[in-house]
Amino acid sequence: MSMTDLRSAEEEEMVGIALSMGEKAFRGRQMFQWVHGKRVQKIEEMTNLPAGFRSGLEENYVVSGVTIVEKQVSAGRDTAKYLFALSDGNVIESVWMKYHHGNSVCISSQAGCRMGCTFCASTLTGLTRNLTAGEMLSQVYEIQRETGERVSNIIVMGMGEPLDNYDNLLRFIRLVTDEKGLHISQRSITVSTCGLIPRIQDLMKEHLSITLAISLHAPNDRIRRQTMPVAEKYSIEEIFAVCREYFNETGRRITFEYSMIHGVNDREEHAQELAARCRGMNCHINLIPLNEVKERKCMRSTDQDIERFKFILEKYQINVTIRREMGSDIDAACGQLRKKFLDQAGSNPEEVKR
Ligand code: SAH
Repeated sequence: MSMTDLRSAEEEEMVGIALSMGEKAFRGRQMFQWVHGKRVQKIEEMTNLPAGFRSGLEENYVVSGVTIVEKQVSAGRDTAKYLFALSDGNVIESVWMKYHHGNSVCISSQAGCRMGCTFCASTLTGLTRNLTAGEMLSQVYEIQRETGERVSNIIVMGMGEPLDNYDNLLRFIRLVTDEKGLHISQRSITVSTCGLIPRIQDLMKEHLSITLAISLHAPNDRIRRQTMPVAEKYSIEEIFAVCREYFNETGRRITFEYSMIHGVNDREEHAQELAARCRGMNCHINLIPLNEVKERKCMRSTDQDIERFKFILEKYQINVTIRREMGSDIDAACGQLRKKFLDQAGSNPEEVKR
């Protein structure tokens, strides 16, 4: 029988485990404290549990974790990229970013991705599998342990499409915001999606105060379809409609991500068209200079074109920022480090399993 991961379990589930093993409910609450408060990595470390209970737990349960395969630190030492191995040998990546207002961790939600955006490295080998909530948490726990610094912001913007792993994402959000765990506020969490409309509608009903970021990358469907297969399924019209609804429902301003690709989406008329779409909407546009991926043909826009784009949006009173390029010297674009690792190991992910 395969082992069940305690790191993905919520408090009431741990209480259920304790009760099912003939223990009192408070033993489950103690387990939760060990796993998410003290963040132990082994059941044997839960020293206030009776020895018999611990060895019983060890027969069916583990505390999942991730192990560092590689760590790259940027020249400015303000960004570090981690390549982590999961317990089945799959590899994922996470990024740690140090800002004066606190530290952020960008986590992966899937090993690989099936959305197929043509500029992105994460999708080159397709989707291998969803990550569990425990595996998403482990990226944060391990980085906090390794750097010795507190993480205050979480960005679900690494490898994978978080809304394609919806239930585990919500479980992750509940666990990481739990006051007995890291207790990160919902406002300090950003979830980025390529725009899976039915899941955005589900998320809206949760009334969370997280920030929803939408990867737009184009002012119209014709251009969006050139780089994002998901645009065949959902139109920009529908995306803007659901974003307006999301704001009305949650009061949370939407962020649009716009990766700037030379000659594709960075012209003056594209900025005008985008501005027209955003009129009267409470949103924020984040312009991302494309991180060039060697397997992909897309090129980064020039600084001049990016500045011009920003200038036009500002003329229409749209909130716009240009993403600070952190760690472009360390393969920090989604999926680049993992792709390099898989290439070295032989491109079949199965082969990296030990
Ligand atoms: N699947 C989610 C999270 C993915 S990555 C989503 O689509 O939003 C986070 C952001 O980086 C997305 O906006 C994604 O489109 C963008 N991105 C991916 N590869 C990139 C690259 N090479 N250069 C710049 N941005 C990139």
